[in-house]
Amino acid sequence: MNSEMKKVVCASGLMIAALGAIADDALVRINLADGGVRTERVALVSVSPSHVRFTYPKEQIADDVASIDVVPDFMTAKKGDEGYWIDARGAYGLFEQEAGVYENDRAGWMPIFGLKRGDTLWYGQVMGWRCDYHFRAEAKEGRYEAFPRFMVKALRAYYPVYQDIVVDFRRLNGAEANYVGYAKAYRKYQFENAGIKMARDRAKTNPVTDYLLESFVIRISQHCRKQVLKDRTLRMTRQNEQPLLVHMPFLICQDFAQQLHDAGVDKATFLSAGWTSGGYDGRYPDMFPVEPAIGGEAGFKAFAERCNTLGFQMSAEVDYTEMYGPADRFSLDLACRYANGQFPDGGFWPGGLAYNLCTKKALDLGWCQMDFTRLRDVIGPGPLFFDVMSAIEPRRCGHPAHKVTSDDMGAVYSRLFELAQGAMGGAASECGFDLGIRHLDYVNYLWHEIGFWKSNRYKGFLSGVFPVWELVYHGVVFYTSDRWLQNHTYGNEDRSNGAFDFGWGIYDRKEDPEKALKMVEFGSRPILYTHSFSDIPSIVKAWREYKPVRHLQKEEMTGHRKVARNVFETTYGDGSRTVVNYGSEAFALGGISVPALGYVLIGSDNSKRTFSFDPSKGLAEVYGNSPL
Ligand SMILES: [Zn+2]
Repeated sequence: MNSEMKKVVCASGLMIAALGAIADDALVRINLADGGVRTERVALVSVSPSHVRFTYPKEQIADDVASIDVVPDFMTAKKGDEGYWIDARGAYGLFEQEAGVYENDRAGWMPIFGLKRGDTLWYGQVMGWRCDYHFRAEAKEGRYEAFPRFMVKALRAYYPVYQDIVVDFRRLNGAEANYVGYAKAYRKYQFENAGIKMARDRAKTNPVTDYLLESFVIRISQHCRKQVLKDRTLRMTRQNEQPLLVHMPFLICQDFAQQLHDAGVDKATFLSAGWTSGGYDGRYPDMFPVEPAIGGEAGFKAFAERCNTLGFQMSAEVDYTEMYGPADRFSLDLACRYANGQFPDGGFWPGGLAYNLCTKKALDLGWCQMDFTRLRDVIGPGPLFFDVMSAIEPRRCGHPAHKVTSDDMGAVYSRLFELAQGAMGGAASECGFDLGIRHLDYVNYLWHEIGFWKSNRYKGFLSGVFPVWELVYHGVVFYTSDRWLQNHTYGNEDRSNGAFDFGWGIYDRKEDPEKALKMVEFGSRPILYTHSFSDIPSIVKAWREYKPVRHLQKEEMTGHRKVARNVFETTYGDGSRTVVNYGSEAFALGGISVPALGYVLIGSDNSKRTFSFDPSKGLAEVYGNSPL
């Protein structure tokens, strides 16, 4: 965009802010494959006084287009303006920088993004192309834009453009013009349109969900897996695959569960990963036979029975997005392809070179249904965990015999969750991409934004993370708020022992109080990945921290606010509140003393429980809340 255009955009943006009127057009920036840029102005159609719709017909998208940015003037700001840009997860940036970029390539987990300027917040909801865009916030010479970038070239690598770009923009004013109002507006939309229900309501007829309401998740990281080869050119076969490294055979896991039970843990959902043929990531999409090296089907059954006897819930991981050479089900005809016949890069994992399995084929061939039924016979009901599926924009497939658009693949994933809920009583996955959310019970963790913010990955351009996903889905789907919070009681991981996977290093067991408090502030349930008995004290610690607040999983998160520097209040549907203090001094709020590095839980009956951080015990209750 030239500087003259920038001046025009800025000037009209100011005028709109001044008049409070609805803008009548949007800048469309068309980024060309050769690096050039064309711009157009496209009229916005008024749907209601606070709602306009942008439409860009598919026929207008020329062959030389790489991507399309849609930027109404009300989604722009300048350095020094009051407000922030905000993505779907709640990552936000204040208007403080001259230049910078934040990009979320998984923008469609919730297809919303916003910009608050002064007492108005506008947000966009992507209605067409919701699986095929990135969210970007950019500042150049102090001028900010927050916009969706529609990835035309990436989509056309698989198939022709098949739908119009449609974005609804809505305006929130006054008390609603903030991240809480933004989250609540989308939550309302989802309750009205996406068929979601509160977990406590699903639990009335579903014992698996009922159990999840009070349990946390312990994932046996990998019962067994093969070493990842350094030579990444080899497509493995059954003849040359690597030997299995066995970490947690089923019989050992029984003892593991017993020790947790004996330590007082009352409700835990075990997630068994790497039970599959060839171990973790070994021979997908083969699930069966249960890997003999760790005890086979009889061993898995016995582990599940022991769990049930101890009062725990059992579940297992499956994967229908990858395909490896050693699998009996392996066939290049079943892999997702580009339109030119080549295969997208699926990475290189323990099973060797990975191809993207066309999940629609796995469904059409009846594999998933067959596997779910068989697994149910072995381990009984429990929320079946799908690797990857809700962590990504659904995979595209351009294979001429089984072309699948990202929207249709999203429907396939959703169908698999639904089938799992039918066969196993529940379904789970990662990150919370919400296309299939009505059939999901939990996600392991949301993405990495809190960790990105803490490590200053965006050099100040990302100012923080609000609990937006949490305000939308708390009480509907169980979650841990960030990868940064996974294993939060383990402390820092040292991987100098050559650990080649997350969670396989040595931990110093120095729990970070900020992580413990963030779990409470964001209404997270803990998740612990384990492959070692040395983790048991840390798992028990996480459970002790969780127990006083786990009943809040039954409630909607109704509000969140910063009370003071380092002090945050989160409110719930039953009237409960948590007030979390990250500071080094106690804080007084309405007659309540919130200890340094601690929190107060105010119940629906106005009862108060006070917790403070102790390096050995974690967040532990302090009896007697005396006023400051
Ligand atoms: Zn396909």
